[in-house]
Amino acid sequence: MLYISTRDNFEKVSAAKAIKLGMVPRGGLFIPEKTPYIAQTELNKMTSLTYCQIAEKILCLYLTDFSQNEIKECALNAYNQYNFDTYEIAPLYKLNDYTYILELWHGPTAAFKDMALQIMPHLLSKAVKKLDSQKETVILVATSGDTGKAALEGFKDVEGLKIIVFYPYQGVSKVQELQMTTTEGKNTFVVSIEGNFDDCQNTVKEVFADESFNKLLQDNNYELSSANSINWGRLAPQIIYYFWAYLRLLDKGEIKENEKINFSVPTGNFGNILAGYYASLMGLPINKLICASNENNILTNFINTGIYDKRREFKKTNSPSMDILISSNLERFLFEITGHNGGKIRDWFEELKTKGYFKIDEVTLEKLQEIMVGNYATEKETLSTISEVYFNNKYLMDTHTAVGVKVSADYVEEEKDEHLAVAVSTANPYKFNSSVLEALKGKEEVSKKGEFEILDELDKLTGIEIHPGLKYLDKKQVRHKQSCHKENIREQIKSILSIKT
Ligand SMILES: *Cc1c(COP(=O)(O)O)cnc(C)c1O
Repeated sequence: MLYISTRDNFEKVSAAKAIKLGMVPRGGLFIPEKTPYIAQTELNKMTSLTYCQIAEKILCLYLTDFSQNEIKECALNAYNQYNFDTYEIAPLYKLNDYTYILELWHGPTAAFKDMALQIMPHLLSKAVKKLDSQKETVILVATSGDTGKAALEGFKDVEGLKIIVFYPYQGVSKVQELQMTTTEGKNTFVVSIEGNFDDCQNTVKEVFADESFNKLLQDNNYELSSANSINWGRLAPQIIYYFWAYLRLLDKGEIKENEKINFSVPTGNFGNILAGYYASLMGLPINKLICASNENNILTNFINTGIYDKRREFKKTNSPSMDILISSNLERFLFEITGHNGGKIRDWFEELKTKGYFKIDEVTLEKLQEIMVGNYATEKETLSTISEVYFNNKYLMDTHTAVGVKVSADYVEEEKDEHLAVAVSTANPYKFNSSVLEALKGKEEVSKKGEFEILDELDKLTGIEIHPGLKYLDKKQVRHKQSCHKENIREQIKSILSIKT
């Protein structure tokens, strides 16, 4: 299987090359030329497979230049009980008769990014070997908080590469910041950038597309790659848990063969929900993908009107990992639903850059709405959903998950859609502890306390153990203190890599 660019501006490449390059050097994202398919009869035979076995099966279909053994080794190294605190890897929790919650935060950093970033470094290091590159790989990451730590953990002390993470200064929670800045490892670097996540992400994308800067790096024996969800090596592993959830439900008899289900996905950069879309293209019986946003509801408007308009205020909300106006992976989705029309994609994203908005045609909008529904939850609704679910079901959710659960419940009520729904849970509730405690006990209780007192308070209140990735963070040494202005990012990278010019 070969990979093509969403902007028709690059040659076809192998999976290894797509993973190593991260994104198309001239702008655009790699996608598989053809999506593989798994028939229902085949699915029926997969119900007893472990998470790891499903991973092997799905990834083999996409990464055809990797041997089955190589993929198996990567999967075993990632999805095991050292890295995850449950043998199921991604357990399903039954909230009520028509809603399940898929918990994707049992990995080392307590957020769903681990699902992909525990395996991706293994895939990348195999890809680099296959391509026989003599250069050292430098991974650049822009993070709204969770990707950064997950990538640092995944790539820490992996030989032959360095990782540099950029996060928006004051744009992440204290816990998220400490998770990153206390990272050990000789090859890890963390830099805060003035501005919001979009500034951060755009700056990093510009560095990828900067030919003369890349030439300079090459001359110094370095090559860039990305661990953001613009990298196919990040995206492919996310397809696995959609299959896993479906197969668990089928195995338990909660659904029948061929029965369609809905997935509700708290969405930021559109990577998670895009993986769900690929699962549906592969034949997984999905009725609707519910795209849940916070008050940065640009995607809600887009899904309902076909107009993507970034000329609006960026809001900092209590679900910060979704505070994003430019959702990178939307480009892949649009490329798929336009039947691989790179010309259209180029025009739309050029308009987005120059005019600040674009409008898709009616036919594309119809295709989009066949599979996707979009809505959002306000900050207040997010908190009241957390407290309602906790007091009614004794189940504690984080803010991002609550956005998904709220949007899903509203959709069911409005549309009377009777398909079983899986709400994708993207973070452990303790990761966003101030908002979670605020939801349970009111703002007063939170305002005077530091995040680590809040963790203890939540622990006492709910009896739920503190995730090991969050415990004692305040006692660890801060090792990374670099910060820079976005204009100076190239200088910063050069200084980290000791490149003199
Ligand atoms: C990254 C993240 C999201 C958004 O996922 P995308 O793939 O960027 O849409 C949602 N919730 C949490 C907790 C996250 O870390």
